[in-house]
Amino acid sequence: MCVDWHERFAEAPDVLKSALRQQTAVPVLDFEIGGDGFITMAGPCSVETERQLMATANHVRRNGVRVLRGGAFKPRSSPYAFQGLGLEGLKLLALARQETGLAIVTEVMSETDVSLIAEYADILQIGSRNMENYALLEAAAHSGRPILLKRGMVATVYDLLHSAQCVLDHGNPNVILCERGIRTFETTTRNTFDVAAIALLKLVSHLPVIADPSHAAGHRELVPALARTAVTAGADGLLVEVHPEPCKAWSDGEQSLDFDAFDAMMASLNPYIALRESAVSRTMEAVA
Ligand code: PEP
Ligand code: MN
Repeated sequence: MCVDWHERFAEAPDVLKSALRQQTAVPVLDFEIGGDGFITMAGPCSVETERQLMATANHVRRNGVRVLRGGAFKPRSSPYAFQGLGLEGLKLLALARQETGLAIVTEVMSETDVSLIAEYADILQIGSRNMENYALLEAAAHSGRPILLKRGMVATVYDLLHSAQCVLDHGNPNVILCERGIRTFETTTRNTFDVAAIALLKLVSHLPVIADPSHAAGHRELVPALARTAVTAGADGLLVEVHPEPCKAWSDGEQSLDFDAFDAMMASLNPYIALRESAVSRTMEAVA
Protein backbone atom coordinates (compact mmCIF):
# COMPACT_ATOMS: atom_id res chain seq x y z
CA MET A 1 0.00 0.00 0.00
CA CYS A 2 1.31 3.49 -0.85
CA VAL A 3 1.71 6.19 1.80
CA ASP A 4 -0.86 8.96 1.48
CA TRP A 5 1.44 11.95 1.93
CA HIS A 6 -1.46 14.39 2.08
CA GLU A 7 -2.87 12.47 5.01
CA ARG A 8 0.56 12.15 6.60
CA PHE A 9 1.28 15.87 6.35
CA ALA A 10 -2.30 16.98 6.87
CA GLU A 11 -1.38 19.92 9.11
CA ALA A 12 0.79 21.55 6.46
CA PRO A 13 -1.68 21.47 3.55
CA ASP A 14 -0.56 24.60 1.71
CA VAL A 15 3.04 23.55 1.26
CA LEU A 16 2.04 20.27 -0.40
CA LYS A 17 1.82 19.76 -4.14
CA SER A 18 -1.67 19.92 -5.56
CA ALA A 19 -3.27 19.71 -8.98
CA LEU A 20 -3.01 23.50 -9.14
CA ARG A 21 0.48 23.92 -7.74
CA GLN A 22 3.36 21.60 -8.57
CA GLN A 23 6.27 23.98 -8.03
CA THR A 24 6.84 27.41 -6.53
CA ALA A 25 9.47 29.62 -8.12
CA VAL A 26 10.59 32.23 -5.60
CA PRO A 27 11.48 35.54 -7.30
CA VAL A 28 14.73 37.19 -6.19
CA LEU A 29 16.08 40.25 -8.06
CA ASP A 30 16.00 39.15 -11.73
CA PHE A 31 16.01 35.36 -11.22
CA GLU A 32 14.03 32.62 -9.50
CA ILE A 33 14.80 29.93 -6.96
CA GLY A 34 12.86 26.75 -7.68
CA GLY A 35 12.52 27.50 -11.39
CA ASP A 36 14.40 25.77 -14.21
CA GLY A 37 17.86 26.92 -13.18
CA PHE A 38 20.00 25.51 -10.37
CA ILE A 39 20.94 28.32 -7.98
CA THR A 40 24.12 28.37 -5.93
CA MET A 41 24.35 30.58 -2.87
CA ALA A 42 27.88 30.92 -1.54
CA GLY A 43 29.97 33.04 0.77
CA PRO A 44 31.56 33.09 4.18
CA CYS A 45 29.93 31.81 7.32
CA SER A 46 30.36 35.28 8.86
CA VAL A 47 30.99 38.67 7.36
CA GLU A 48 34.39 39.62 8.79
CA THR A 49 36.01 42.44 6.81
CA GLU A 50 35.38 44.38 3.62
CA ARG A 51 38.39 42.72 2.01
CA GLN A 52 37.22 39.21 2.94
CA LEU A 53 33.67 39.76 1.75
CA MET A 54 34.49 41.54 -1.51
CA ALA A 55 37.15 39.00 -2.49
CA THR A 56 34.68 36.18 -1.87
CA ALA A 57 31.76 37.90 -3.62
CA ASN A 58 33.83 38.69 -6.71
CA HIS A 59 35.23 35.19 -6.83
CA VAL A 60 31.97 33.24 -6.44
CA ARG A 61 30.15 35.49 -8.92
CA ARG A 62 32.60 34.42 -11.62
CA ASN A 63 31.45 30.85 -11.00
CA GLY A 64 27.79 31.57 -11.72
CA VAL A 65 26.73 32.09 -8.10
CA ARG A 66 23.60 34.29 -7.85
CA VAL A 67 23.32 34.77 -4.08
CA LEU A 68 25.99 35.86 -1.59
CA ARG A 69 25.64 34.37 1.89
CA GLY A 70 27.22 35.86 5.00
CA GLY A 71 26.14 36.10 8.61
CA ALA A 72 26.07 39.51 10.29
CA PHE A 73 24.09 38.31 13.32
CA LYS A 74 25.51 34.90 14.24
CA PRO A 75 23.88 32.19 16.36
CA ARG A 76 26.95 30.68 18.05
CA SER A 77 26.88 27.66 20.29
CA SER A 78 29.35 29.37 22.64
CA PRO A 79 28.53 32.78 24.14
CA TYR A 80 32.26 33.57 23.94
CA ALA A 81 32.52 32.93 20.18
CA PHE A 82 32.35 35.74 17.59
CA GLN A 83 28.72 36.91 17.42
CA GLY A 84 28.88 38.76 14.09
CA LEU A 85 29.47 42.37 13.05
CA GLY A 86 25.77 43.30 13.27
CA LEU A 87 24.84 46.47 11.37
CA GLU A 88 28.38 46.92 10.08
CA GLY A 89 28.12 43.45 8.51
CA LEU A 90 24.80 44.33 6.86
CA LYS A 91 26.38 47.44 5.36
CA LEU A 92 29.24 45.38 3.93
CA LEU A 93 26.72 42.95 2.42
CA ALA A 94 24.89 45.89 0.80
CA LEU A 95 28.19 47.11 -0.61
CA ALA A 96 28.90 43.65 -2.04
CA ARG A 97 25.48 43.59 -3.71
CA GLN A 98 26.09 47.01 -5.19
CA GLU A 99 29.49 45.99 -6.58
CA THR A 100 28.62 42.52 -7.84
CA GLY A 101 24.86 42.43 -8.45
CA LEU A 102 24.62 39.34 -6.25
CA ALA A 103 21.49 38.94 -4.13
CA ILE A 104 22.09 38.77 -0.38
CA VAL A 105 20.95 36.11 2.09
CA THR A 106 21.69 36.67 5.76
CA GLU A 107 20.35 35.30 9.01
CA VAL A 108 17.82 36.98 11.24
CA MET A 109 17.75 35.71 14.82
CA SER A 110 15.30 38.00 16.52
CA GLU A 111 11.91 39.54 15.71
CA THR A 112 13.23 42.94 16.67
CA ASP A 113 15.92 42.76 13.94
CA VAL A 114 13.59 41.74 11.11
CA SER A 115 12.87 45.19 9.69
CA LEU A 116 16.53 46.24 9.86
CA ILE A 117 17.78 43.08 8.15
CA ALA A 118 14.98 43.19 5.56
CA GLU A 119 16.29 46.62 4.49
CA TYR A 120 19.64 45.06 3.55
CA ALA A 121 18.86 41.46 2.56
CA ASP A 122 17.06 40.03 -0.44
CA ILE A 123 16.38 36.76 1.41
CA LEU A 124 16.02 36.32 5.18
CA GLN A 125 17.62 33.18 6.58
CA ILE A 126 15.94 31.54 9.54
CA GLY A 127 18.61 29.33 11.07
CA SER A 128 18.42 25.82 12.36
CA ARG A 129 18.24 26.97 15.98
CA ASN A 130 15.20 29.12 15.22
CA MET A 131 13.18 26.93 12.87
CA GLU A 132 10.44 26.59 15.48
CA ASN A 133 10.56 30.17 16.76
CA TYR A 134 7.04 31.02 15.66
CA ALA A 135 7.16 34.67 16.69
CA LEU A 136 10.27 35.09 14.51
CA LEU A 137 8.65 33.19 11.63
CA GLU A 138 5.63 35.49 11.83
CA ALA A 139 7.70 38.68 11.89
CA ALA A 140 9.93 37.43 9.05
CA ALA A 141 6.87 36.47 6.99
CA HIS A 142 5.44 39.98 7.42
CA SER A 143 8.65 41.53 6.04
CA GLY A 144 7.57 40.29 2.60
CA ARG A 145 11.10 39.06 1.86
CA PRO A 146 11.61 35.45 0.70
CA ILE A 147 12.48 33.20 3.64
CA LEU A 148 15.26 30.62 3.57
CA LEU A 149 14.06 28.20 6.23
CA LYS A 150 16.76 25.88 7.53
CA ARG A 151 15.75 22.56 9.02
CA GLY A 152 16.23 22.41 12.77
CA MET A 153 19.04 20.08 13.78
CA VAL A 154 16.58 17.85 15.64
CA ALA A 155 13.53 18.59 13.50
CA THR A 156 11.67 16.05 11.40
CA VAL A 157 10.60 16.71 7.84
CA TYR A 158 7.08 17.21 9.18
CA ASP A 159 8.34 19.84 11.68
CA LEU A 160 10.05 21.68 8.81
CA LEU A 161 6.89 21.62 6.72
CA HIS A 162 4.88 22.90 9.74
CA SER A 163 7.20 25.86 10.08
CA ALA A 164 6.93 26.56 6.35
CA GLN A 165 3.14 26.39 6.66
CA CYS A 166 3.37 28.95 9.47
CA VAL A 167 5.14 31.42 7.14
CA LEU A 168 2.52 30.83 4.43
CA ASP A 169 -0.25 31.33 7.02
CA HIS A 170 1.21 34.76 7.69
CA GLY A 171 0.81 35.72 4.06
CA ASN A 172 4.27 35.01 2.66
CA PRO A 173 4.32 32.32 -0.06
CA ASN A 174 8.04 32.66 -0.80
CA VAL A 175 9.65 29.99 1.34
CA ILE A 176 12.80 28.08 0.38
CA LEU A 177 13.39 24.90 2.39
CA CYS A 178 16.95 23.97 3.37
CA GLU A 179 18.33 20.58 4.42
CA ARG A 180 21.52 21.22 6.48
CA GLY A 181 22.00 17.93 8.27
CA ILE A 182 20.54 16.62 11.50
CA ARG A 183 21.96 15.37 14.79
CA THR A 184 22.40 11.61 15.02
CA PHE A 185 24.67 9.27 16.99
CA GLU A 186 27.37 9.87 14.34
CA THR A 187 29.84 12.44 15.58
CA THR A 188 32.62 12.17 12.98
CA THR A 189 30.67 14.43 10.69
CA ARG A 190 29.23 17.61 12.21
CA ASN A 191 25.70 16.51 11.31
CA THR A 192 24.18 13.69 9.27
CA PHE A 193 23.20 14.84 5.80
CA ASP A 194 19.63 13.63 5.27
CA VAL A 195 19.49 13.12 1.54
CA ALA A 196 16.20 11.25 1.87
CA ALA A 197 14.68 14.45 3.25
CA ILE A 198 15.59 16.24 0.01
CA ALA A 199 13.99 13.50 -2.09
CA LEU A 200 10.91 13.48 0.17
CA LEU A 201 10.53 17.27 0.19
CA LYS A 202 10.81 17.34 -3.61
CA LEU A 203 8.18 14.61 -3.82
CA VAL A 204 5.58 16.16 -1.54
CA SER A 205 6.15 19.92 -1.51
CA HIS A 206 5.96 22.57 -4.20
CA LEU A 207 8.45 24.77 -2.32
CA PRO A 208 12.04 25.01 -3.59
CA VAL A 209 14.52 22.85 -1.70
CA ILE A 210 18.18 23.71 -1.31
CA ALA A 211 20.97 21.82 0.41
CA ASP A 212 23.70 23.08 2.72
CA PRO A 213 26.50 20.52 2.50
CA SER A 214 28.84 22.70 4.61
CA HIS A 215 26.93 22.53 7.89
CA ALA A 216 25.97 18.92 7.18
CA ALA A 217 29.56 17.76 6.70
CA GLY A 218 31.47 20.03 9.04
CA HIS A 219 34.66 19.14 7.10
CA ARG A 220 35.56 20.78 3.81
CA GLU A 221 36.85 17.56 2.20
CA LEU A 222 33.33 16.10 2.34
CA VAL A 223 31.45 19.12 0.99
CA PRO A 224 31.79 18.45 -2.79
CA ALA A 225 30.54 14.86 -2.51
CA LEU A 226 27.52 15.94 -0.47
CA ALA A 227 26.84 18.73 -2.96
CA ARG A 228 26.81 16.26 -5.86
CA THR A 229 24.47 14.00 -3.90
CA ALA A 230 22.13 16.91 -3.27
CA VAL A 231 21.89 17.66 -7.00
CA THR A 232 21.10 14.04 -7.85
CA ALA A 233 18.45 13.92 -5.11
CA GLY A 234 16.66 16.80 -6.87
CA ALA A 235 17.70 19.90 -4.93
CA ASP A 236 16.98 23.26 -6.57
CA GLY A 237 20.18 24.81 -5.29
CA LEU A 238 23.01 24.86 -2.79
CA LEU A 239 24.17 26.99 0.12
CA VAL A 240 27.94 26.67 0.52
CA GLU A 241 30.50 28.29 2.82
CA VAL A 242 33.50 29.79 1.00
CA HIS A 243 36.32 31.83 2.51
CA PRO A 244 39.55 33.28 1.04
CA GLU A 245 41.57 31.74 3.88
CA PRO A 246 39.48 29.12 5.70
CA CYS A 247 42.21 28.50 8.29
CA LYS A 248 41.84 32.12 9.45
CA ALA A 249 38.01 32.25 9.35
CA TRP A 250 36.32 33.70 12.42
CA SER A 251 33.68 30.95 12.27
CA ASP A 252 33.21 27.57 10.57
CA GLY A 253 36.65 27.60 8.88
CA GLU A 254 36.90 23.81 9.08
CA GLN A 255 33.94 23.37 6.72
CA SER A 256 34.65 26.35 4.43
CA LEU A 257 36.08 25.86 0.94
CA ASP A 258 38.90 28.07 -0.30
CA PHE A 259 38.59 29.54 -3.80
CA ASP A 260 40.40 26.70 -5.56
CA ALA A 261 38.34 24.04 -3.82
CA PHE A 262 35.16 25.96 -4.63
CA ASP A 263 36.12 26.17 -8.32
CA ALA A 264 36.88 22.45 -8.40
CA MET A 265 33.56 21.63 -6.73
CA MET A 266 31.59 23.79 -9.17
CA ALA A 267 33.35 22.16 -12.14
CA SER A 268 32.58 18.70 -10.77
CA LEU A 269 28.92 19.67 -10.34
CA ASN A 270 28.42 20.84 -13.93
CA PRO A 271 27.53 17.48 -15.49
CA TYR A 272 25.13 16.74 -12.62
CA ILE A 273 23.44 20.12 -13.00
CA ALA A 274 23.15 19.65 -16.78
CA LEU A 275 21.44 16.28 -16.26
CA ARG A 276 19.11 17.80 -13.69
CA GLU A 277 18.18 20.68 -15.96
CA SER A 278 17.34 18.41 -18.87
CA ALA A 279 15.20 16.28 -16.51
CA VAL A 280 13.41 19.42 -15.23
CA SER A 281 12.65 20.64 -18.76
CA ARG A 282 11.33 17.16 -19.73
CA THR A 283 9.03 17.26 -16.68
CA MET A 284 7.84 20.78 -17.60
CA GLU A 285 7.03 19.60 -21.13
CA ALA A 286 5.14 16.61 -19.75
CA VAL A 287 3.11 18.83 -17.37
CA ALA A 288 2.35 21.29 -20.23
C1 PEP B 1 24.87 29.30 8.93
O1 PEP B 1 24.29 29.18 7.84
O2 PEP B 1 25.98 29.87 9.07
C2 PEP B 1 24.28 28.65 10.12
C3 PEP B 1 24.53 29.09 11.36
O3 PEP B 1 23.53 27.60 9.79
P1 PEP B 1 22.60 26.64 10.70
O4 PEP B 1 21.49 27.49 11.21
O5 PEP B 1 22.14 25.60 9.69
O6 PEP B 1 23.46 26.06 11.78
MN1 MN C 1 28.34 28.62 9.36
